[in-house]
Amino acid sequence: MTGKELQEQLTWKIPNIAKEAPEQIEAAGAFCEGYKEFLNRGKTERECVSMAVELLKKAGYTEFDPEKNYMPGDKVYQNNRGKALLATTFGQKPVREGIRINGAHIDSPRLDLKPNPLYEKDELALFKTHYYGGIRKYQWVVTPLAMHGVMVKKDGQVVKLDLGENPGDPVFCVTDLLPHLSAEQDLRKLRDGIKGEELNIVAGSIPYADPDADEPLKEPVKLKVLELLHERYGVTEKDFARAEIEFVPAHKAVDVGFDRSMIGAYGQDDRVCGYTALMAEIETAAPLYTTVTVLTDKEEIGSETNTGMNTAYFKDYVAALAAQENAPLREVFRNSKCLSADVNAAFDPTFPQVSEAKNTCYLNKGCVLTKYTGSRGKSGANDAHAEYMAEVIGIMEEAGVYWQIGEIGAVDAGGGGTIAKFVAGLNIDVVDLGVPILSMHAPFELSSKLDVYNTYKAFKAFYAVR
Ligand code: MN
Ligand code: MN
Repeated sequence: MTGKELQEQLTWKIPNIAKEAPEQIEAAGAFCEGYKEFLNRGKTERECVSMAVELLKKAGYTEFDPEKNYMPGDKVYQNNRGKALLATTFGQKPVREGIRINGAHIDSPRLDLKPNPLYEKDELALFKTHYYGGIRKYQWVVTPLAMHGVMVKKDGQVVKLDLGENPGDPVFCVTDLLPHLSAEQDLRKLRDGIKGEELNIVAGSIPYADPDADEPLKEPVKLKVLELLHERYGVTEKDFARAEIEFVPAHKAVDVGFDRSMIGAYGQDDRVCGYTALMAEIETAAPLYTTVTVLTDKEEIGSETNTGMNTAYFKDYVAALAAQENAPLREVFRNSKCLSADVNAAFDPTFPQVSEAKNTCYLNKGCVLTKYTGSRGKSGANDAHAEYMAEVIGIMEEAGVYWQIGEIGAVDAGGGGTIAKFVAGLNIDVVDLGVPILSMHAPFELSSKLDVYNTYKAFKAFYAVR
């Protein structure tokens, strides 16, 4: 045997899909049209849930009724407070033999309004914000923002806010200094280039006109904004305390590159896995094992709050499935398998130093299987077992899915976590699988269409196991 032959036999090279399977380029492009639509209509967790419910209903899903007995092939969903969603296709095997879980998150980093946000300063009206999730603050200034969210009036009526997305809508923004006057700011560390309390959103500049007033009004610009909000939504300043208002990048998902091979958009972490997981769930007809597709909330702030994965709602749902056949919950968990469907950091040729070339993921090499996350010696990670890695790799290879491995950065470069460790905490086998992303958590994140497509194929294969 020649050395070259031996090398081919013994070494591992992860191929570029565009080189090895160029026929996938067209199919991936077509698949991603639906994905871009999902991104454009789902800029918040609430909007993603309503859109997902719409798609599930259209596909024949009904609301889960714990009193009802379901048959293999039946499809149900459960909506948790409009912010997290569970969807199931009942399998042929009893749930006692385990379920197949695919969990993605649909919350993304953004600027949330504080509970008392509106103020006037030097004749401008502004909103105070508190950022949500890990953001690099300097990336969120001087970019058009749209307002999304809900306000709940005293009588309980929920008012939906959605301004800045449609043609002709006004948008909003955070200002920054001009280079002529940034001499002092330029000396700040990048981390403090823009500080948290400087992320103030411009909301208006025209004062309320009251020509007959005896004395000038205090804060007339703020009053004008409140007047317009009252006209449009019927709300008052106090209603901000009964609200969740999220400012997100106003731009739409677009193709990137002359070859249109990539998607640039806000919120791809982790709606890219949310969409692909949802499509795989809907297209699963008669699985062997019962599926539970989770679109969860609050991952970006640690999976807490009762719409996050580390709270009772997920366990209670599986418990309700187990109760249908009087199966002990712990047995269901012990026999279950999960994909933690989340993105990973793609190798960036401009910043190679934060990755370790052999163990990072790349655009166009497929979905990324991440054995462990965490930081400083895998701390805070789920570290998937070799046996489970073998099982998931086997499923993907059987289905012809292009996949690669990844780490969240070189050792001690930083790190991060996903929902995986919370699922593992229930005694379920779990590993991270998702899409490589460039500029993760930025207002404009990049993904490759081929990777999105292969992630969808991986999720489908996971549910199609015989
Ligand atoms: Mn994520
Ligand atoms: Mn994230």
